[in-house]
Amino acid sequence: MVIDFHTHTFPDKIAGRTIAHLSEVGKMPPHTDGTRTGLLQSMKDSGVDISVVLPIATVVKQERSINALSAELNVKDHIYYAGSLHPDCEDIGGTLDFIKNSGLFGIKLHPDYQGVDFNDERCVHIMEEAAKRDLYIVTHAGIDVAFRDHVHCTPDMVLEVLERLSGVIDDKLILAHMGGYELPDEVLEKLVGKPVWMDTAAVMDLYPEKCVEIIRAHGADRILFATDSPWRSQREFLSLFHSLPLTDDEKEQILYRNTKKILSI
Ligand SMILES: [Zn+2]
Repeated sequence: MVIDFHTHTFPDKIAGRTIAHLSEVGKMPPHTDGTRTGLLQSMKDSGVDISVVLPIATVVKQERSINALSAELNVKDHIYYAGSLHPDCEDIGGTLDFIKNSGLFGIKLHPDYQGVDFNDERCVHIMEEAAKRDLYIVTHAGIDVAFRDHVHCTPDMVLEVLERLSGVIDDKLILAHMGGYELPDEVLEKLVGKPVWMDTAAVMDLYPEKCVEIIRAHGADRILFATDSPWRSQREFLSLFHSLPLTDDEKEQILYRNTKKILSI
């Protein structure tokens, strides 16, 4: 079984221009057309059984429609969804209750696209309230290719949040991109062994040896297989993952066993 924990799709109406724009800004060619149908086709072509879509509310007024759509589509066709909160959310409790009651596993934050630092008071408050409701928090971590001059979620910011929310957020925080995109050495130095999960999205191809080092140091029981489709190919990432020098047991943990716990399946 294979679960891809980190993918993106967009509503059919806006997928074309959104993909074109993001692809230009990030200088990354897309591997699907950005629609849900495109993701389903990619899953079929690559042998991914379940995908998790992580939407991002980049402005506060998108929240309601994003969360309603996630709630409506969740689990159908083997695609799971997170909800999303914007740091300027005016009804954090009510929005999180809706997400929880809809059966979603958690929320996605993207500090770069939401214009905040990860340790901002508003983010900390959202994470505290989410964790109290037993929701997971997935965040972009490390450099973002579209915002290279300011890293909005550094390993130091993660350490600060873990300390401030100690006992509340433990085991609820999932750091995308192996804890920090393009920052593997700092992740090795500061984040391995902390009570967080890390996903493999968009970095396994950049520095596979470092990824194995992080997996070994952090523990395969805290790593989730993920691609960042459409920005990486599910098929290529899966064959790359299989080529890593990990044991069969470690691979099974990362490919689906850990993620099944998070999705409660
Ligand atoms: Zn992503």
